Amino acid sequence: MEIDIKQFCTPTGYYGRCDEPFTYSGRTYATNGHIIVSVPLMKSVTTEIPMKPESLDRVIEPINNASKFEKIPAWEQPPKRTCASCNGTGSVARCPECEGSGEIEFSNSHNSYSDECKTCDGFGAVHGDEIECASCDGKGTIQKSYPINMGNGIHINSDYLLQIESLPGAEIDLSHGPESIVPFRSDGVIGGVMPMRA
Ligand SMILES: [Zn+2]
Ligand SMILES: [Zn+2]
Repeated sequence: MEIDIKQFCTPTGYYGRCDEPFTYSGRTYATNGHIIVSVPLMKSVTTEIPMKPESLDRVIEPINNASKFEKIPAWEQPPKRTCASCNGTGSVARCPECEGSGEIEFSNSHNSYSDECKTCDGFGAVHGDEIECASCDGKGTIQKSYPINMGNGIHINSDYLLQIESLPGAEIDLSHGPESIVPFRSDGVIGGVMPMRA
């Protein structure tokens, strides 16, 4: 099964150069600096390693040597709350006053002014069903990320746990404690996630 490896990259446009998967030493990697996965070489990925190979080696060595894998312990998902931008509907409409920019500009013969749009409070969107709500990606609910206690002093960000759990048959190695990267694996996938300070 081919996984969507790009979901483990830094979102495009953020600081850093890890917004694309890359190939190194016969495998293809994706990381955002907190979580890293590697899969068997993907021929479509030709991006070169964006960091010093030694830095990557240091990160993946404990992952490659991990051996105490177990099923991910049961954990409770943090509560979802209704998205305030769309009132839970998942859709919004472009603001008719600022046309989505969140700002109003006006000028007279002396000056030009710009101000936050009062119709949408600067969000650029109002209630409606025209476009997908960007605040909640159309889901209608927002789930804040949360440190989840996995035992052995290890806390993992709930967002990353959800990502790991979405990999088929995912297993995790919790034997190394809260100071080291936490290895995980799934069908052909190996990876690691940095624990959070709880
Ligand atoms: Zn929403
Ligand atoms: Zn507006």
